[in-house]
Amino acid sequence: METETIKYPEVKNYVDGHFLSNGHQNLEVFSPIDGKVISHVPLSGMKDVDAAVAAGEKAFPAWSAMPIKERVQIFYRYRTLLEKHREELATLVHKENGKTMGESYAEVDKSIELTEFACSLPQLVAGETMEVSKGVECRIERAPLGVVGFITPFNFPNMVPHWAVPNAIVLGNSMILKPSEIVPISAIRMAELLKEAGLPDGVFNLVHGDREVVEAMCDHPGIKALAFVGSTRVAKIVYKRATSSLKRCLALGGAKNHLIVLPDAHTEMTASNVAASMSGCAGQRCMAAAAMVGVGDIDHIVDKLCEEAKKIVVGENLGSVISKEAKERIEAYINEAEKAGAKILVDGRNATVEGNEGGYYVGSTVIDYVTPDMAIAKEEVFGPVISIIRAKDLDEAIDIENSSDYGNAAAVFTQSGGLARYVMEKASAGMIGVNIGVPVPREPFSFGGWNESKFGTCDITGKSSIEFWTQLKKTTTKWNPEARTNWMS
Ligand code: NAD
Repeated sequence: METETIKYPEVKNYVDGHFLSNGHQNLEVFSPIDGKVISHVPLSGMKDVDAAVAAGEKAFPAWSAMPIKERVQIFYRYRTLLEKHREELATLVHKENGKTMGESYAEVDKSIELTEFACSLPQLVAGETMEVSKGVECRIERAPLGVVGFITPFNFPNMVPHWAVPNAIVLGNSMILKPSEIVPISAIRMAELLKEAGLPDGVFNLVHGDREVVEAMCDHPGIKALAFVGSTRVAKIVYKRATSSLKRCLALGGAKNHLIVLPDAHTEMTASNVAASMSGCAGQRCMAAAAMVGVGDIDHIVDKLCEEAKKIVVGENLGSVISKEAKERIEAYINEAEKAGAKILVDGRNATVEGNEGGYYVGSTVIDYVTPDMAIAKEEVFGPVISIIRAKDLDEAIDIENSSDYGNAAAVFTQSGGLARYVMEKASAGMIGVNIGVPVPREPFSFGGWNESKFGTCDITGKSSIEFWTQLKKTTTKWNPEARTNWMS
């Protein structure tokens, strides 16, 4: 499919089961594969959020009153539709985000897994009861919150919305999704397929746009809980603004993930894991390896890593980065590191793809002798670049990891269980890998970082998310069988 022939030339808000043309100013949507305009997205505001909240509130009483075992049936059907349209959904991700088709299929497969988890929620949310004294029973059950919102980033247009939408809706809420304005198209298919699966109108709504619509969602009193995934800069803004308008908020931010490599690590496995982690999805994953902290003599692993990195070729097994600005930012970090004395072992600057000269490409890049004070060591680069930082011993490596403002993921590569255990204990990150470069916890385990990679309690997926999308209702009941019924008392 050529980018010119994409099916959605105009992105529309989806409110109460209908796509609306709202006469707003539009932004152009580019395919990063070739830099061509593929669609237009409206910049919505408070009026549109108002309409979506009203639709959500209208749908909420009937939806939340439906037993969860019935609500979940819609998501069994939805899962089948995701599978049926897997190729089309992956192609949309490929076109609007620029990742390879293989990565796009993997993204849709992950959305299917997330939907399967949502289908298991009835088994996980059964309440509790106990007779706490003779004839008196306490009972706890989970109740939905009402209309809730979710704001998503550009890097997983299909999967990240599935982190929250199925769970929040199965748990009985109505949802307003605000997708990234850079990749707004996949969400349209999500709305269409949810409707086809039988979701009642108003339970799922879409509002598109950028800062203005996000601020409206933070401020709107009708939105009871707001989840956010994106950069730390915006996560802080959203968390502060949403909580100051007294709503529950969970805001996941950026990352700078350190992989600690010990000299005894398995050479081939480590090199291929590090290369895949730093370059998968063109390094635009919050779980991507950003820094490899080598302890002692790891030159043999660095050599193998360079060999692996050279096998990763733009336009073949390495997709584009999201925009011209992203390409310029990534290359500026590499230039700055080089100027500061780092050694570029594999250089991905100035990459192009024949036939797609207008696309935004950065080749896989390996930089050695990066020092912890360099910008490339501290800041989120979000490109297919690995910085190698040399440490004299394991404690120095752990200090380097611990000094990051972020704390999404960290990993250790070693054959020693004891040393792996030591890193597991000491690393300051929410998700730890042992001999795994992308330690994403799969369902039912939950996803979420520490430090400036996450603001708020709970995680965004898995069992932990149940807590975020529901509130506990505690009922104390007394049935006294000895008492006579006395209607006059
Ligand atoms: P971003 O923060 O620029 O945008 C995220 C969302 O915020 C978008 O919907 C956007 O419209 C909105 N937004 C942007 N600027 C805003 C502003 N000033 N005020 C209010 N809203 C605003 O992030 P991005 O560039 O789309 O995505 C990449 C970032 O997301 C990276 O930092 C990456 O690490 C992070 N990310 C984190 C996770 C995680 O789980 N922690 C997962 C995926 C991506």
